[in-house]
Amino acid sequence: MDRNDCIRRFGANNISRVQTFRINAGEVDFGDLGHALGAPQGNAVICWLTNGRVAVMGKLFSDNFGDPQTATIEIRFRRSGGQVTNLTTRSLTSQGGPVSWRDIERVSPAGDFREVRIRLKQFLPDTGLGPVSSVLATRTFRRREVIRLHIKVLSNPIVNVDTMVDSMRQVYASADVDVELASRENLNLPAFDDLDVDPCVRGLTSEEQDRLFANRNSVGANEVVAYFVRSTDPPLNGCAAHPAGRPGAVVTSGATRWTLAHEIGHVLGLNHVDNNARLMTGNGTSRITNPPPNLSVSEIEAIFASTLTISV
Ligand SMILES: [Zn+2]
Repeated sequence: MDRNDCIRRFGANNISRVQTFRINAGEVDFGDLGHALGAPQGNAVICWLTNGRVAVMGKLFSDNFGDPQTATIEIRFRRSGGQVTNLTTRSLTSQGGPVSWRDIERVSPAGDFREVRIRLKQFLPDTGLGPVSSVLATRTFRRREVIRLHIKVLSNPIVNVDTMVDSMRQVYASADVDVELASRENLNLPAFDDLDVDPCVRGLTSEEQDRLFANRNSVGANEVVAYFVRSTDPPLNGCAAHPAGRPGAVVTSGATRWTLAHEIGHVLGLNHVDNNARLMTGNGTSRITNPPPNLSVSEIEAIFASTLTISV
């Protein structure tokens, strides 16, 4: 299943975001057909609707080849206020042998929902010691994520920092990712104001980058820092290469309003595309044709998969 299944069920205008996933929990799985080598080959889907509701659609599999078992899925929705719905439980008993499955569709009640929890359980029959029930997997999905961004300024850019942060918020909002400005600090480090970033390739950093990126006052482990410097050598609008474990990017004084969003896109794992309607255009963000520029569905999925975006 994919976005199209959410659109068919709820209408294209009612979908705010879609998550696809499969859970391979051994003898109980959740996903979609087919099912091979003990694992679902297709994805289940979570449809987040613009009216606040959320739906889970997929197939529950029971694939033990031994004794009979009952496979159970429990689905629970959490509202923005924190209250949870009653558990929805659906079960499927197989006798051992060929894989059994059943369709699962659960739509939340009306309301403003932000979290879905899915739990897979296995019940084995009484073998003399009493029936055995075990939780095989628990997965939690959330509507929005947040990037915690720290700003450290060596030199103020021509397009001011607030404009760049606002522009970044506009782009990432299309992915249901909030940008939280976690701290802002001026750094008096003239030695790094014209920063050696050669060759500005992911995973490679100069000694100057290593020393600048060591400045992580008040920055948590999975939080991102943007260092605003006067210039780089070679001259670039920004550079997202950073030392391992110190995620961040530099942005220079000649940057455009989209440079910050673009460089943080690289930090989140995105690569260049040859398309000036997109944030990740490799032709320079000054050539962006349609503000705010687009993120593709696969880019949005990559952003959600990044450890630098935190579910809220
Ligand atoms: Zn780039």
